[in-house]
Amino acid sequence: MQVFISLGSNLQTPLRQVTQACNTLRQHRDIQLRRCSHWYRSQAVGPPQPDYINGAAELDTSLTPEALLDELQAIEQQQQRERIQHWGPRTLDLDILLYGCDIIATERLTVPHPWMTKRNFVLQPLLDIAPQLVLPNGTSIASLLQTLGNKGLSKLQPGEDIEQR
Ligand code: AMP
Repeated sequence: MQVFISLGSNLQTPLRQVTQACNTLRQHRDIQLRRCSHWYRSQAVGPPQPDYINGAAELDTSLTPEALLDELQAIEQQQQRERIQHWGPRTLDLDILLYGCDIIATERLTVPHPWMTKRNFVLQPLLDIAPQLVLPNGTSIASLLQTLGNKGLSKLQPGEDIEQR
């Protein structure tokens, strides 16, 4: 199954957190990491906190959505995710954006991810790796991003990480 996920971090050298998560995914037995986006810096939504580093990745996996979520949450745990506050700062956040064309609404999973259409820091990296991508309802990622614009978002420069700001 073709799957798109988002990656985000704003604690403990965020760039290292997201690249480490990609490396873990690359080595996973049941996951093939197809593409990784550029990394972006974004202003946080929610309580005052450091900027985030965000990206997206395309995976191919035979795992069910729930089993994939288990694996992503295990990676979050491995990287000692700390999150004290709802929508507060976190070491690593991995979300399932799209799982093929499936529409999922269970206690644990909502796919397509409910916030993805409203967040340019999700859509821009997704567009990098899948310019033609459309949601199961037929809406294109490109058109959603055009509506949202690029406010608060910048492409990470080589060698840049949040602590160096
Ligand atoms: P957060 O870490 O704030 O993104 O939220 C984690 C919770 O969101 C987990 O308990 C998941 O069960 C739930 N969740 C619902 N839909 C998704 C999704 N598409 N991807 C990842 N987590 C999800």
